[in-house]
Amino acid sequence: MASTVGDLSFFSQKVVEWYNSNKRDLPWRGTKDPYAIWVSEIILQQTRVAQGYDYFVRFMRRFPDLASLASASEDEVLAHWQGLGYYSRARNLHKAAVSMQGVFPATYEGVRALAGVGDYTAAAICSLAYDMPYAVVDGNVFRVLSRYFGIDVPIDTVAGKRYFAALAQRLIDVRRPALYNQAIMDFGALQCTPHAPACASCTLADGCMAKNGGTVDALPMKSHKTVKTTRYFSYLLAWIGSCICLHKRTENDIWKNLYEFPLIETCQEIDMAGVISSAVSNGMLVPEETPTVRLLQRGVKHVLSHQVIYANFYELALPGNSRSFGAFLQVEHGVLSGYAMPRLLTAFLDRAGGLKGSPLEQCP
Ligand code: SF4
Repeated sequence: MASTVGDLSFFSQKVVEWYNSNKRDLPWRGTKDPYAIWVSEIILQQTRVAQGYDYFVRFMRRFPDLASLASASEDEVLAHWQGLGYYSRARNLHKAAVSMQGVFPATYEGVRALAGVGDYTAAAICSLAYDMPYAVVDGNVFRVLSRYFGIDVPIDTVAGKRYFAALAQRLIDVRRPALYNQAIMDFGALQCTPHAPACASCTLADGCMAKNGGTVDALPMKSHKTVKTTRYFSYLLAWIGSCICLHKRTENDIWKNLYEFPLIETCQEIDMAGVISSAVSNGMLVPEETPTVRLLQRGVKHVLSHQVIYANFYELALPGNSRSFGAFLQVEHGVLSGYAMPRLLTAFLDRAGGLKGSPLEQCP
């Protein structure tokens, strides 16, 4: 059961005091520009600050305002997002920029209605840009509140989310919502961390229910563990003459609208002979054409939030007049970097030292 929630203003005051002595110098702090705050919040939705920092700087350099983002192509926005993952964030950012028609909304409802903006992001934008008293509730806030107040209501239930949202709203300092929201987020990120929180030096330690009750590691509570599915990918780096084949993922699946090499997905790992026969049976390879094939890398593990992918990479060479892979884009290898690809593939290309433009004998 949850503990009785005691002196709320004491908690808020302590967190803000802590923040004033410990806040991080970040490029999206100190601005009231809702566009910049929106971009930073979307980048930080599933990305750590250390990784998001450089992406934010680069993104703002190329798309400094709403107009520049709205007039760019989705492919270019995705290319600037490459490596950050969770690409629906970039697609929604672009979609929302187009939908705003040059004017960033100035109400909570208007901000909340933007593509890709949920309760947390709307509260962050409205409090940080407009000083509206909307409390943010994210993983950091769940953790700090559940520990300090000793709340064991599971955070992954509807009732739990409601409970914490109501508590967070009672805690927000309405005279300075931007300061308070940033303070509690930084407190969770730097002091009350998921693993090994710095309880010994914590300004809230005396009143912290979890510390005093020995439940720090058990909180916040979750009712379910995330179940991950396993997928097996065989990528074909298929050369037609001097061009490499690419495909744009358009299905409602991971990596929508990113580019990849021809892919064969199976429910278990298959060998090279299996890959070739699958490529023939699904129409990628014309049966009478026999490519030269070699295995480049095997068993590359790529972990996403709900999936684990095991990928094998093969290289195939066919002559320039081949009829195979007719449904794929064929691009010169030198322009591959202009196509946004998932991290699994860019990491592969990095390891391979690029493709060097020549099939088989020049690749590792
Ligand atoms: S004492 Fe430890 S668990 Fe409690 S709020 Fe501080 S860092 Fe978090």
